[in-house]
Amino acid sequence: MTASLHCAVLPRQPEQLARGSCVGHQQPDLWTSEGSEAREAARNICAGCRARGPCLDWAVAALPASDLAIYAGTSAADRARIRRARRGAA
Ligand code: SF4
Repeated sequence: MTASLHCAVLPRQPEQLARGSCVGHQQPDLWTSEGSEAREAARNICAGCRARGPCLDWAVAALPASDLAIYAGTSAADRARIRRARRGAA
């Protein structure tokens, strides 16, 4: 995944996602890096992002399992666990 893809795949709606902390960030590769330090930095930024709630809902509902980037502080494995938990709760 290229660095620019992370923000490019964020939808315009809900509107909060267009104002997420990763949008226009100077180091967009933090969210797509395979390095543990970069991924931790992305998680920390997501933790303070005002779009985190809607971002998580979108990422869990819409992203393919093959998207390995960090969204709403979650990895692909985190999102898979959340999907299973939400299916179990339904
Ligand atoms: S929670 Fe993270 S991935 Fe989602 S919009 Fe905010 S900074 Fe971007």
